Amino acid sequence: MTLRSVSYGGGVQSTALLVLAAQGFIDFPVFLFANVGDQAEHPATLRYVREVAFDYAAAHGIEMHELHRTPTRGVSAGQPEDLWDRLMRPESRSLPIPVRMPDTGAPGTRSCTADFKIRVVGKWLRDHGATADDPATVAVGISTDEWERANARTVEPYENVVYPLLKLETRRGIGLNRAQCEAVIRDAGLPVPRKSSCFFCPFHKPTVWVDMARDEPELFAKSVLLEDTLNERRARMACPKGGERAGRAVLDGVEDGAELPEDAEHAGWLSLPVGQYHPCTSCHAVLQVQPDGTWPAHRKGPVYLTRFGKPLRDWVGNQGEQQSLDLSDEGYRCGDVCDT
Ligand code: SF4
Repeated sequence: MTLRSVSYGGGVQSTALLVLAAQGFIDFPVFLFANVGDQAEHPATLRYVREVAFDYAAAHGIEMHELHRTPTRGVSAGQPEDLWDRLMRPESRSLPIPVRMPDTGAPGTRSCTADFKIRVVGKWLRDHGATADDPATVAVGISTDEWERANARTVEPYENVVYPLLKLETRRGIGLNRAQCEAVIRDAGLPVPRKSSCFFCPFHKPTVWVDMARDEPELFAKSVLLEDTLNERRARMACPKGGERAGRAVLDGVEDGAELPEDAEHAGWLSLPVGQYHPCTSCHAVLQVQPDGTWPAHRKGPVYLTRFGKPLRDWVGNQGEQQSLDLSDEGYRCGDVCDT
């Protein structure tokens, strides 16, 4: 029988799915909460899941499981891994979260959601019978006001991903928006949860950081510590672009600075002017192009948790500058299951 489960994040949309399943409007008997780690999830989300959602699910005959990434190899084999620990490990060289580039503010690539949520849920589904021939139906809570997130979700062979909140028929039309999800939760007698995400997620809107600095100073201090730690580590690492030709590939589908495919018909290379300063195409440190047209040897440049190209403590700490900044939504959203 095809498994039907919800990838439960503990935020507004997936809690609305829990209520709708309890009330019989959707048929999903299993809810899977992939905890990225007690030190990484926002404490309020953990409290909500453990003190509200689990009890509500049990009272309505819904199975709810809390899952953890558990490596099978290495020194911590068999132990649940915490994303915070992975980020703070002194010998770590990877950047699994979508840190912001100092020049453009664009988020870097990330593996956190795939490693700590999608694959963790996927393992549970495969252990419980999901296969490529009989994939599980996995519901993700995305509401109509953020429908564009649905396009970006990675789909694995053992799952069919569906978005019930976009399709549900109500008296007011098709689909539920965030406010309607909150109403569903309130009408069921449950408190409305906060947005669920890691407290340090670089996808946060600027206003989230400002609110955190004021209302949750311990979490803000930990976020500052994380940003400092990542950058201290990067400042000790040599960037592989040092000594390479300074320029960028100009071909659709080829990353800046990447080797161009030999058979590329319209491939080009834009050499950067000698003597000028440009961000390195790999680490984004701002560098002067050498007389021979190469990047100088250099250490990796800093990355940030906000899009403003400066450390969190400086940005939030500078009230005068803050007022002149645009604090509206940045347009970057997690396309997967994180409620950011
Ligand atoms: S909330 Fe942000 S940092 Fe945490 S797993 Fe999701 S994308 Fe990564």
